[in-house]
Amino acid sequence: MPNKIVVLGAGVSGLTTAYLLSQDPDNQITVLAKHMPGDYDIEYASPWAGANYMPVGKQGSNHHAWERDTWPALKEITEKYPEAGIHFLGMTPNTIEINEHALIISSDAIIYNRKKDQESATGKWFSELVQPNPWYKDVVPDFRDIPESQLASEIDNGQIFTSVCINTAVYLPWLVGQCTKNGAVFKRAVFKHIADAADAHHSGQKADVIVNCTGLSSKFLGGVLDENLLPARGQIVVVRNDPGPMIGLSGTDDGEDEALYIMTRAAGGGTILGGSYQKHNWDPLPDPNLANRIMKRAIAIAPQLVKEGQGIEGLDIIRHGVGLRPLREGGPRVEKDEVAGVKIVHNYGHGGFGYQASFGCAGTAVSLVKQVLQNKTRAKL
Ligand code: FAD
Repeated sequence: MPNKIVVLGAGVSGLTTAYLLSQDPDNQITVLAKHMPGDYDIEYASPWAGANYMPVGKQGSNHHAWERDTWPALKEITEKYPEAGIHFLGMTPNTIEINEHALIISSDAIIYNRKKDQESATGKWFSELVQPNPWYKDVVPDFRDIPESQLASEIDNGQIFTSVCINTAVYLPWLVGQCTKNGAVFKRAVFKHIADAADAHHSGQKADVIVNCTGLSSKFLGGVLDENLLPARGQIVVVRNDPGPMIGLSGTDDGEDEALYIMTRAAGGGTILGGSYQKHNWDPLPDPNLANRIMKRAIAIAPQLVKEGQGIEGLDIIRHGVGLRPLREGGPRVEKDEVAGVKIVHNYGHGGFGYQASFGCAGTAVSLVKQVLQNKTRAKL
């Protein structure tokens, strides 16, 4: 008898979990979701992400382990499957001088820290990322400190390493393709109560387990109603201009919940200019004043975005966007549960790190699904 599994949600969390589960031929998987790759909606965080790998989990936490365990998977996909829409930032040599032994490096992700940002919302979010000597220096390739002599006067420390940037418009459909190739079935559905999803497995039989990957919507989903969830609103501008490296700064002088990051997506996905980290803000509409500040800050830190002498009029805008990061007080919920007699494994609440922790969290969720299924088999014996 195959294992009948429902994955509820088709964002990066649901798709990555379904992808790993679908590698076991004993699993018969239905992915059910209100939104699917191709949709752009304020209730659907995944398409709006940059998305890059910039670890923020506190050393020694589950979050740290999930991000650490995700890098090898993203690296492997980037190397083996160019059609997945992920590229290294960047493998073309550039000319940043690091020391007399390494005049040319292959890494292109640059992080700057200003100590004065450490108490702001953005500074706290980035605190692990920007600190000198972070844990991820042993995970990503080519990690280097930027010599003090090469830092602008307001920067306290900086580092360079190799990271990835994901074109979510290509990567999410690629995940759907991998799952369907392995036999998973995708269906649109909307549920008011989580237990109802057990009756929607494509076999027509009741599912043995539901994996709940509904992100921020778990705040309102019957049977879950998680009050620890909150939005961290992220506003972005997507442009055709290409700055070269991916750049992030610990904060801005424009507001304590505003952010500055720039990344160019793989496969013609444009360059994302960010951003903001506005907790408890549900506004789905781009704020034009914030958009202006985002663009000005981007040009100030990366003047090569536009031609010499140009300001924001030199940016070629593809679209403005807003996404709500599914932040959860206490961290993501990846655990077993039972609701109205239905076995559940939760995997939601990944804030601004859903991609960079995707394989780590999905791996934990898959282990929990296996435990549920083993107990089911034992109960039948
Ligand atoms: P979602 O993508 O929100 O998916 C939820 C799914 O559940 C959807 O399919 C939805 O339709 C479905 N659903 C919900 N409720 C129901 C229901 N009742 N019935 C049926 N279906 C339902 N992360 C990174 O790692 N790196 C980055 O660089 C990065 N940048 C970001 C930039 C911005 C501007 C934003 C907004 C986010 C960024 N993130 C980044 C965070 C990342 O996007 C999220 O953590 C991630 O997308 C969450 O994915 P998810 O699958 O859990 O939720």
